[in-house]
Amino acid sequence: MTRWRRTHTCGELGLDAVGSKVTLMGWVDVVRDLGGITFIELRDREGVTQLLIGEQASPEVIEVAKRASSEWVVAVQGEVLRRTEATVNPNVATGAIEVRADALQVLSEAKTPPFAIEDDLKTNEDLRLRYRYLDLRRGVMRRNLERRSKLAVGGRNFLAEQGFHEIETPYLTKSTPEGARDYLVPSRVHKGSFYALPQSPQIFKQLLMIAGMERYFQIVRCFRDEDIRADRQPEFTQIDIEMSFVEPDDVYELVEGLFVSMLSAIGVELETPFLRLSYREAIDRFGSDKPDLRFGCEITDVSELMLGSGYGIFESTVESGGVVRAIIATGCAKYSRKDVDDLEAAAKELGARGLGWARWSEEELKSPLVRHLGEDRLKEAFKACGGGVGDVLLIVAGERPLVADVLGGLRVQLAKREGWIQEGQWKFLWVTEFPLFEYHEGDGRWYSMHHPFTAPHPEDFGALESDPGTVRALAYDVVANGYELGGGSIRIHNSDVQQQVFRALGISDEEAHEKFGFFLEALQYGTPPHGGIALGFDRIAMLAAGGTSLRDVIAFPKTTSAFDLMTGSPSEVAKDQLDELGIGIKKT
Ligand code: ASP
Repeated sequence: MTRWRRTHTCGELGLDAVGSKVTLMGWVDVVRDLGGITFIELRDREGVTQLLIGEQASPEVIEVAKRASSEWVVAVQGEVLRRTEATVNPNVATGAIEVRADALQVLSEAKTPPFAIEDDLKTNEDLRLRYRYLDLRRGVMRRNLERRSKLAVGGRNFLAEQGFHEIETPYLTKSTPEGARDYLVPSRVHKGSFYALPQSPQIFKQLLMIAGMERYFQIVRCFRDEDIRADRQPEFTQIDIEMSFVEPDDVYELVEGLFVSMLSAIGVELETPFLRLSYREAIDRFGSDKPDLRFGCEITDVSELMLGSGYGIFESTVESGGVVRAIIATGCAKYSRKDVDDLEAAAKELGARGLGWARWSEEELKSPLVRHLGEDRLKEAFKACGGGVGDVLLIVAGERPLVADVLGGLRVQLAKREGWIQEGQWKFLWVTEFPLFEYHEGDGRWYSMHHPFTAPHPEDFGALESDPGTVRALAYDVVANGYELGGGSIRIHNSDVQQQVFRALGISDEEAHEKFGFFLEALQYGTPPHGGIALGFDRIAMLAAGGTSLRDVIAFPKTTSAFDLMTGSPSEVAKDQLDELGIGIKKT
């Protein structure tokens, strides 16, 4: 059989091609045998074209058309014909034409696939992951990967134009503290020693600044051995960036430009500059350090109003340093008792002891709080929160972080329930001035909220040892639609300060030296002030795809138990491979 060359894709032929001879190649999507005539929908990456095998077709062509079935790979040669008026399909790009099959070759036959290759497939995800190459044939998955590629190319081009160098850093390396467990790789040559796969290229990108590279980026795989949730994967991709001689504002400006150019590559326009909120303000107003700003429903502090109310629970909460805060569920006075009970159950799930509520309809103000607070005070609370007749007031009392979690969580649940979120919208913001440290009750010590190379806010420097909990960091997150899309900081560029921070973290000088001696030494050879950020590329691609699962924008993802269902990894290895590495397996 002669080798044919493809002349067109299955997505491009229109009326202007009528009469021309073409060669197409692709997968058989559907075969429709109507007795005398057979239609084959031929599919490739770009679309679907209808092939016509009529009664006049050669016996060879008819024979192939009769045998062929879904997912066979075929090549066709034929003439482009205008479809009759009645058979035009305006929903398909090639719906005005069909190709009369004058010759048809089978390039490969296919087993019957375990699920249909169609967009709204209802099959369990494990099966899709087991046969990922078939899953990726579905248009929706193909479009996700195509969009992901456009985002990457858009981002890369922008950064190159801004004078960034793309530099690769090693995968076989030493542990970098980002707060997760490392994946370890045993060394055969140095038995008993291990490399760690990078949780991020943090130290290397800082070393590149010390090396004078000034502007670095990398679209890089990182590895964190965490218990995975729906929006985590053990290996994930970051757009990693580091710049010398910068302040936070410089990083914000660059990253805003980067998002604008990435998203414009997929037709989304963004407004800049992004809003900025300090961490404290974000928590106080939205109950979250990654607030979704596609809707309002801000939290209001009503502690003052509750002092002097005579209601013991609220008063004692405020007197003991806690807060009473509230949100308005706009237009929800129609809620039934059951709706309110559901919200209360949700609040308890989020950790609240109870949920105060009041429903203000045209007819009445209904609330179990009326007898404690009186109607007037409750109405005042409505007004203080920007609500009124037609609305529901939800009040939570307790310690500040708990109240934030509960109201922040309720706010999001209400928005979903009430359809306040307009799809297709992107609301970006910067959350700034994160605390430098956070305290873990469990082991009674301070941890870095970001990582230990983050610079303390110059105004708070004095409290590093005396009152670490109050020290703000020059750290920032970029947030969109309730997702943290990236985080970074201005770094410490002085080895004494770096050592001071290690000490505040309870890392002894010896330990610091053993783990990061090379880095502390490097800091002493002329380090420019520098800072950067890492953006979660998978999450960006997920939002761009309008989805909620990272697995839908990663070609070959792992399951939530970090397993690859297609290749069957991780898997056991042969004994001689282990022997070579000097490793014995302890079965418990
Ligand atoms: N290395 C940090 C991370 O992966 C990001 C940064 O500080 O640039 O979260």
